[in-house]
Amino acid sequence: MTEVDVWLEAGRDGRSFTYSDSRGLGVGLGDLVRVSLRGRPLQGLVIACRPSGSMLLSPGDPPPPALQPVEALLQRAAVEPRWRQWLDAMAVRCHTSAFRMLKAALPPGWLGQRVARPSAARELWWVEPVLQPVDADTRAQAEMALPPRQAALHAALIQCGGTWQRQLQADGFGPHLIQALVRRGLARRERRPAPALAITSVASDVGGRTLTDEQQQVLDAFAQQPSGGGMLLWGVTGSGKTEVYLQLAARELAAGRHVLLLTPEIGLIPQLVDRCRRRFGSQVLEYHSGCRERERVLTWRRSLEAETPLVVVGTRSAVFLPLEPLGLIVLDEEHDSSYKQESPMPCYHARDLALERVRHLGGRLLLGSATPSLETWLQLSPAGPLALARLSRRISSQPLPPVHVIDMRAELQDGHRRLISRALMDRLAVLPERGEQAVVLVPRRGYSSFLSCRSCGEVVQCPHCDVALTVHGSQPGRQWLRCHWCDHRAEVEASCRHCGSLAFKPFGAGTQRVLEQLAQELEGLRLLRFDRDTTGGRDGHRRLLEQFAAGEADVLVGTQMLAKGMDLPRVTLAAVLAADGLLHRPDLRAGEQALQLLLQLAGRAGRGEKPGQVLVQTYSPDHPVIRHLVDGRYERFLEEERTVRQQAGLVPFSRACLLRLSGPSASGTATAASVLAERLRPLCAAADWQLLGPAPAPVARVAGRSRWQLLLHGPQGSDLPLPAGTALWEALPADVALAVDPDPLAL
Ligand code: ADP
Ligand code: ZN
Ligand code: ZN
Repeated sequence: MTEVDVWLEAGRDGRSFTYSDSRGLGVGLGDLVRVSLRGRPLQGLVIACRPSGSMLLSPGDPPPPALQPVEALLQRAAVEPRWRQWLDAMAVRCHTSAFRMLKAALPPGWLGQRVARPSAARELWWVEPVLQPVDADTRAQAEMALPPRQAALHAALIQCGGTWQRQLQADGFGPHLIQALVRRGLARRERRPAPALAITSVASDVGGRTLTDEQQQVLDAFAQQPSGGGMLLWGVTGSGKTEVYLQLAARELAAGRHVLLLTPEIGLIPQLVDRCRRRFGSQVLEYHSGCRERERVLTWRRSLEAETPLVVVGTRSAVFLPLEPLGLIVLDEEHDSSYKQESPMPCYHARDLALERVRHLGGRLLLGSATPSLETWLQLSPAGPLALARLSRRISSQPLPPVHVIDMRAELQDGHRRLISRALMDRLAVLPERGEQAVVLVPRRGYSSFLSCRSCGEVVQCPHCDVALTVHGSQPGRQWLRCHWCDHRAEVEASCRHCGSLAFKPFGAGTQRVLEQLAQELEGLRLLRFDRDTTGGRDGHRRLLEQFAAGEADVLVGTQMLAKGMDLPRVTLAAVLAADGLLHRPDLRAGEQALQLLLQLAGRAGRGEKPGQVLVQTYSPDHPVIRHLVDGRYERFLEEERTVRQQAGLVPFSRACLLRLSGPSASGTATAASVLAERLRPLCAAADWQLLGPAPAPVARVAGRSRWQLLLHGPQGSDLPLPAGTALWEALPADVALAVDPDPLAL
């Protein structure tokens, strides 16, 4: 019999307990098992195995207590030793425990107390060809002998390797046709768990496009990269970066290696998945927070057990997938701050983890962006480890669209007080007759969507957080208030609680207000709204984009996510209302992020036959970000920004670390914060680091919990002056939580 040590969630770093494989499950190292601990079912990881009774007993010792059995084997070989070593190194780097890191890496529900319910999987018919060992000629002859529709279906099945019956039916192959092939022994049908997202068409774009010279050069340069190396692909919007990713992926697959394609937001997943499925068919899987728990587990399992190489498209947490061998990781839009996880612990940046992953486990990293982050730009060789490749021309013959700045101060002086300037109105009005489309960005912070009293200025706050509630819902009378931090909901009241005034009407949410104005002033313009309220649900993004792409609207009005990644040839105008909401933020990276977003948005226009144009409304036309937007010289901006930060000793020319505390009592949390500060002060002094705070967090209360923070600042490249392991937590009261965020993005 075998005795095993199982690592279970107990305390901050987990603890191992010994069980016996008395049910003969054949449990081995790295397996995920279910056991009970004091009567509670728990899932844990097997970290040691040995024959029973091998722990030597001295004569006279009492016999060991009978061990409890391992109750179930949930996943064999869930954790591979080399992968685990990489993960442990990342835990040290993120100042979190190895257990928490592992728990964050595994699919939700795998490690810990919540036993995943075996949910009834929705199943669909899967159809695949029965491959007889015949050469292509013989197969062609056999197909000739078939009725034409059956032959077409057979050929399609062979090309895609198998697909869902639902999809075949959508493509015009009826059930009787499928049955006929099955009867002939040329296809087989089975029930399989339904896939994560709407099914897309069978692979129809197998070879890919002929690359341009520039694209070919990138491919060749990347081929020169050693394993463990990384490269920045700096390509203007529409220069064909995605096509390069796909062709690099094809090379890896051909060499028998897996590929990971990461994108910052789930909103960008559907179109990337569609593009990948058209190229690689059923080899493409998804892994992101939009997937159901069961689907994530399924992708994880297939990654562990894959016999043929896979392409997985996902968001930041997909960087942990146990794909082996992994040939390529692509981080598209590498500058995007969504790659950083801020809470809960571990606070990690997918870009750092990806680079460390290829260094530890092999493979190569490609970072793609039209507007690389300052951090990445500073990592370019010869000073840093990243090679550089550029795509300087757009695929369409169109140059990057010119940017026109509309000075809203002048609009005001002319007595024009509308949200939308006259120039923009004129431009929008002619869209329909020209068969063109526009995207209009309404920066989230640009408008107040909260409920305020116009008599006394009172703003309705969340009762649990120190923030204003925002107005949701589109029709007057059917609106409600919601807190973006804790999801508290409340009704819209008719009068001010403070002064009783009735001048208390809610503003619509930013996008919606713009939509209403446009609808009023430009009759006949068809509008579509693209924001958190309208893209909800599983396929919300895809549905709206498909509607827009199909020409069901002339203008897409939306928030930040509108700027990212969409490739729509009929869009000739990209506009920003109130760029000011992006410019004036008290954050170190405000300028960089504003320019990245605006350049991204500009990149949506003029991707097809017709030239594009960008209109930017602002009250600060002389702001450096606006200047660089107009001249389009992003690299010049990076140089200026580097000088500023270098002279002021700011990140990344220094290092920062944010310690966030939260607890139910205001005074208890404040006390814990100052106790922690006193503990750290000598460590900071010794390492030449500065300690700022403790101070209340910018939003001092969220969901009824008080929040305090400590900010540490130190020399570039130095280690954080924190004690190792879990020592930091030991001094804290049990109800105060602490998160360590090394290299925080928002400063
Ligand atoms: P990016 O990712 O840089 O914004 P995409 O890869 O989306 O650019 O390419 C922009 C458009 O050009 C897409 O519609 C794509 O299908 C097309 N495209 C890319 N490469 C080629 C090529 N070599 N030949 C023809 N069309 C291409
Ligand atoms: Zn009032
Ligand atoms: Zn709240």
